[in-house]
Amino acid sequence: MKIDLINLTRQYESLKSEMDKAVIDVMANGQYILGPNEQQFEKEIASYLGVKHALGVGNGTDALVMALRALNIGPGDEVITSAFTFFASAECASQVGAKPVFVDADPKTYLMDADLLESAINEHTKAIIPVHLFGQVCDMDKINEIAKKHNLYVVEDACQAMGASYKGKKAGTMSDIACFSFFPTKNLGGYGDGGLVVTNDDAVAERISKLRKHGMKVKYHNEEIGYNSRLDEIQAAILRVKLKHLDEFNDRRIKNATLYDNLLTNNIQKPYKESYNKHIYHLYCVVSENRQKIMSKLKEKGIPTGIYYPLPLHLQQAYASLNYKEGDMPVSERLCKTIFAIPMFPELTKEEIEYIAQNINQIINEGE
Ligand SMILES: *Cc1c(COP(=O)(O)O)cnc(C)c1O
Repeated sequence: MKIDLINLTRQYESLKSEMDKAVIDVMANGQYILGPNEQQFEKEIASYLGVKHALGVGNGTDALVMALRALNIGPGDEVITSAFTFFASAECASQVGAKPVFVDADPKTYLMDADLLESAINEHTKAIIPVHLFGQVCDMDKINEIAKKHNLYVVEDACQAMGASYKGKKAGTMSDIACFSFFPTKNLGGYGDGGLVVTNDDAVAERISKLRKHGMKVKYHNEEIGYNSRLDEIQAAILRVKLKHLDEFNDRRIKNATLYDNLLTNNIQKPYKESYNKHIYHLYCVVSENRQKIMSKLKEKGIPTGIYYPLPLHLQQAYASLNYKEGDMPVSERLCKTIFAIPMFPELTKEEIEYIAQNINQIINEGE
């Protein structure tokens, strides 16, 4: 068998007639940036999430950058995020001139360890960016309580968690501003780059709407330095088609994860899910001290794997100037050496999952 880590064409095939029509209609319609599909998509996704405002932007990284700008975070300020996440969760702080500060991950959930948050807060701290990594929402009650106590903003990095929930509340609805990505491999992915900022705050929404188009409210009257970062019409039309199926796609991911949970040996660490969370498995990551051996043997069997992520952010070369050292974030460092993702996407078949699980179990049993 030859399996993909993430296969996007199966989903396209299943939506082909609807998708082709949506894209062709945009080309025929003549409006390509911030047109009718973009406006409709913003309404539809705001209603899906249950938020007041949704603003389409160029990508998830820009969404985070503009979110921090909208909160007036800049030079001299500190922004706390997890050491175990994608680079953009911290890069956004650097982009606005602020300093990223890292906290370690929880060894079970891989999410920001909220118990370590307070030790990272000082008089320069302005915001916390919890990252809903791999499709599971952080402990938002605890994070929001700490933020409130210290008068800090919370910006959810929900780029991997569209449709996930925490105690019945959707990811992206529990903070001042939340950011999403429509990068093709995300749970709600376009066929190119795209991103979203959501908020219930009218002033923040107005500011983002200005920032995404060069700081203009009125055409060619630039009130501040902004960005050129919009969701294009073709991506909006594609995302409108996919949004209608999102819950079904996420449910299939959950079904696939449950099958893995049941089939995989307990001699490998499987994803841990808090009972009150709807984890939507953007990725299905397992942890083993024998990662290298398992990954190379799986490759021989036609089963690809991926490492998310090979380096914690505090040890990235780009952040050498922050003067962190090895040992500062032991859980994140250990995870980066032992974690790997196995194939996960809604269209993965039962036969493929069985084949993958069987091979992993066999490799692990052989090693004992
Ligand atoms: C993908 C991702 C981003 C950035 O989104 P882009 O659309 O690729 O810019 C930010 N944070 C996390 C956690 C992500 O997974």
